[in-house]
Amino acid sequence: MEKRSLSDVMKWEEISIGATAAGNTSISVGEIGEEGPLVVITAGTHGDEGPWGAWAIRKLLDRIPEEDLTGRIRVVPVTNPIAMAGNDRGAHLDSLDLNRVFPGKPEGTHSERLAATIVERCLGEDVDVAVDLHGGGSWCVNSFAFSFPGDDDLALAADAPFIVKRPPTEGPPTSLTAYAASQGARITAWEMGGRSGVEEEWAEHIADGLHRVLTLAGTVSTPAPPNKVEASAYLEGLGVITPSMGGILLPVLREEAIGTVVDGGTLLGRLVHPATFEELERFEAPYDRTALLLIRNQLMVLNAGDMTYVIGDAS
Ligand SMILES: [Zn+2]
Repeated sequence: MEKRSLSDVMKWEEISIGATAAGNTSISVGEIGEEGPLVVITAGTHGDEGPWGAWAIRKLLDRIPEEDLTGRIRVVPVTNPIAMAGNDRGAHLDSLDLNRVFPGKPEGTHSERLAATIVERCLGEDVDVAVDLHGGGSWCVNSFAFSFPGDDDLALAADAPFIVKRPPTEGPPTSLTAYAASQGARITAWEMGGRSGVEEEWAEHIADGLHRVLTLAGTVSTPAPPNKVEASAYLEGLGVITPSMGGILLPVLREEAIGTVVDGGTLLGRLVHPATFEELERFEAPYDRTALLLIRNQLMVLNAGDMTYVIGDAS
């Protein structure tokens, strides 16, 4: 008889968020395991980061046999469903960034109710580890993980080309991971993958990382694959390159450049006029050694101020 995987035995629950004029909306929460360390994995907090994180979660659950479960796993693959449906960062109903409204308000607007529901149902004090999958999505590919104080091992598990250190949260927590940390969970957030010709490789890469998190937490006994990246580079700060006017991006560097370091002055892409395709602006690597954390790898429309490249100084 075929071995059953965690995907085969995951129990799914539809949890109502509250009524909109279009009817009730809900999120799918998957749960498995009765006792032991609890790992919570969320994805799609930003709707335009879409199904790539959810795909990695499915790949993770497919590869682990049921009998190797030694703890508890809770997954929310589509944390912000209405935003995902519209390919928007936040739900258009209130235009709030879900990842800035935690712990939410049970009687608030859609996004505030969504945050409150996730807090109530998914982020209690029994959570040992919380991983929030971001990045990539419909308009870019990313290649980094955030490391939070004391939880560097979880960031390293991502096997990301770059790791960005985050200082301790000041003030009340407003993001999903900061809220989870305030309840005692160890946390990491990953910005990896997205729409590209190598999107399945990235989904596998993220699934490998999640697998390492589960073994670190003592939640599964299946040995995880070793890291492939030789040494993840730590970056202190991030820079963002944005166009000063609207136009069409003609990318020069494509998905194979994601996660690499390029020399200063390397041409990353060109902004051209939407009608004439006359060159309006050139995007070049600003540092002697420029780490490429986020790139837009396809021809696309840009408006002034759009995040087009996220870079780091790897000199
Ligand atoms: Zn995000």
